[in-house]
Amino acid sequence: MQIDSINPNKKDAKNFELLCNMAELTALFEQKSSVSEFLQDVVRMVAGHMHADVCSVYLYNDTHGELLLRATKGLNHSQDGSVRLKPGEGITGKSFEESRPIREGRASQNPFFKPIPGIEEEQYQAFLAVPIRRGVNRIGVLTLQDKRPNVFTSQDTRALKAIASQLASTLENAEVLIELYQGQDASLKTLTEVDGTSPSSGIAIGSALILRTRTASFRTLPIPPREANFEFSETHELTRFAHALSHTKTQLEQMQQALDNRVAEVADLIFSAHLLMLRDEKFSGAMQEKIQAGSTADEAVISVVNSYVELFGRQENIRVREKAQDILDLGYRMVRNLAKLEHVKGDYSGQIIIVPDIFPSEVVKLSAQNAAGLVALGSGHTAHVALLARSLKLPALFVSEESVLSIQTGTPLIIDGNQDRLYVGPGSDVITRYETALRNSMGSSTAVIEGCKKDCFTTDGVDIQVMANVNLIQDVELALSCHANGIGLYRSEFPFLVRNDFPSEEEQTRLYKRVVDPMGDYEVVIRTLDVGGDKLLGAHQQYREANPFLGFRGIRFSLANIDIFREQIRAILRAGQGHRLKIMFPMISSLDEYEAAKDEVFRAMDELSKDELEFNDAPQLGAMIELPAAVEIAGELAEKTDFLSVGTNDLIMYTLAVDRTNEHIGGMYKSHHPAVLRVLSRLFKNVGTSINHLSVCGEAANHPALTKFLIGSGIRKLSVDPNKIPTLKTYISEQNTAAVSTFAQDLQTLSSIRDIEAYLDEQGVPYNHV
Ligand code: PEP
Ligand code: MG
Repeated sequence: MQIDSINPNKKDAKNFELLCNMAELTALFEQKSSVSEFLQDVVRMVAGHMHADVCSVYLYNDTHGELLLRATKGLNHSQDGSVRLKPGEGITGKSFEESRPIREGRASQNPFFKPIPGIEEEQYQAFLAVPIRRGVNRIGVLTLQDKRPNVFTSQDTRALKAIASQLASTLENAEVLIELYQGQDASLKTLTEVDGTSPSSGIAIGSALILRTRTASFRTLPIPPREANFEFSETHELTRFAHALSHTKTQLEQMQQALDNRVAEVADLIFSAHLLMLRDEKFSGAMQEKIQAGSTADEAVISVVNSYVELFGRQENIRVREKAQDILDLGYRMVRNLAKLEHVKGDYSGQIIIVPDIFPSEVVKLSAQNAAGLVALGSGHTAHVALLARSLKLPALFVSEESVLSIQTGTPLIIDGNQDRLYVGPGSDVITRYETALRNSMGSSTAVIEGCKKDCFTTDGVDIQVMANVNLIQDVELALSCHANGIGLYRSEFPFLVRNDFPSEEEQTRLYKRVVDPMGDYEVVIRTLDVGGDKLLGAHQQYREANPFLGFRGIRFSLANIDIFREQIRAILRAGQGHRLKIMFPMISSLDEYEAAKDEVFRAMDELSKDELEFNDAPQLGAMIELPAAVEIAGELAEKTDFLSVGTNDLIMYTLAVDRTNEHIGGMYKSHHPAVLRVLSRLFKNVGTSINHLSVCGEAANHPALTKFLIGSGIRKLSVDPNKIPTLKTYISEQNTAAVSTFAQDLQTLSSIRDIEAYLDEQGVPYNHV
């Protein structure tokens, strides 16, 4: 956990010291063996630094619909959850309900003041309550109380808010654990090949590991039988256990550190649930008790892990269920460490993971744990998990064949991303062939990148700008290696998606700087948060909708969750200082939405100058054209904006009414559909000469027929996945603008898919891309 950096000019020294000193808290967290102890240290430390008589943490419990007192320094009361407040009850409940800090000089004069019975709370005059939130998720309230009236200042409110925001993720996990403690009361088809959709051309060779079934029930760890001549020694088993526990902890901490270079977005978070469990004394204590009662260390670990997996796996809450997998991973790791099996490469090396569905954060975890590949049910067209797998270079295949879930663990598998195929139980000759292909493909992709052209001109000398779509920070390096003319689309929702939460303004600023800084003088288009549709956040669950693609998506979500939007804009402006920054709004359907979003940028600039922070005060502002509605108003949008970018992934989906993630209708999602070509032509006509300000950043920019069509229609700027830049540049440099212009005109005269495909066949232009 790191504390947000705070502008020292703006903070009083006492609070500044506390905020910067959060390393102290982290250290405490690492030493503590139980969640409750950790919470207790939090309140003790905050009360000490803030010189307050009382500091308490109340956590909101979904099941009870109440705030439960979970830790307090100063209130003489048990913290077992028996002190409860309804949202709206007392100053604490009010702060929670209204999601705002409340500071009272004399609490007893506040009409909402409601002392907790039995602890003479009236003696404390000054009261400060700050809600603990994680994006839209309300977690609880952090309070300070003091006998001296009027002792808390607005600086204290700011400091407490910053602490609450830093603690939010840990406290959220804490409540889940505490709640769980209290609550503790297809047959294998002969598959040989399965076709699917692969987001990349990667090859993976490994053995099958099914992580869970369709019903999300998690497999549990098998208990190994004891050897015939086994003699039990409690001391020996306890020693083995202690070693395995500390080794596991060290391994996880090292993995977390190593992750920072690969997936900076989540480095500090991805193994936090694992570590939290390890530090929880109830978890390890239960294992020790079992050993003392006669179990071997392995039996003890397995049985405790299994009981947790069952508990977590049974929960309604999807985010809690996700943690069952973390615990299972932890169990496997501990068992391996007990057996002293050194898996230097990580948990899943050599294994191809099969799951019915997958969260973006899980894709990152699997990649960090060196999984060889991933097979998931669903469509891989442009779904974000697919984009993520591609960025992480994790070979993946999305299939509709549910029987993959019945493949026996350990079965040899091969994913061939070039052929979009999974081989189940291939013979050794096939494996050898693929091993050679894998070695060659590694070498050749490096060669393709190294040989990538710097500039990109058509045969008749027209300059086409090829920019990069960046999902993860690590893509920036590839974009530079491929001489991208800038970043045409930074999908800023990825840090949110892979973390499954809302990073703070400071965290976002740091992450965006890692995108913008390496790009020097090149322009960088940062798109504001585009969640919703297939980009669901766990934390965003209250917006589960029957038709998420037609619901709270993109700019609609941001404008409705204005605090999140404002924080993000501030972070983008701060990170973009000194750079050619462009801010782009997704899913714009009206001028009104664009204006509202633009106003927020100006508002953020005002605020930032008042806060005396450095920021980019002249960003270019633009809108994505990804809805038919935006095509209709594109002329006016072009006048009001500094630039526009066509998101063909969505524009095709909304034009054809084909869900871009639905595997059953994937074949209907065609970028060369006549209606798509006509919508695009209509857009180009509507924007007129502003076509210079129009780029295309959807996947179709890289579909040969569409590349020709777009350049033939006057587009001069394309933005694609950085992996695709070398081949796209080569392809463009073989085109002649006069010829592609004729090609574009010819295509527009054709009105059926069949005719278009016949024409493309005749011209030798491929169109069956996924
Ligand atoms: C698009 O819709 O084409 C696009 C680039 O945005 P995303 O794929 O992130 O929805
Ligand atoms: Mg889109």
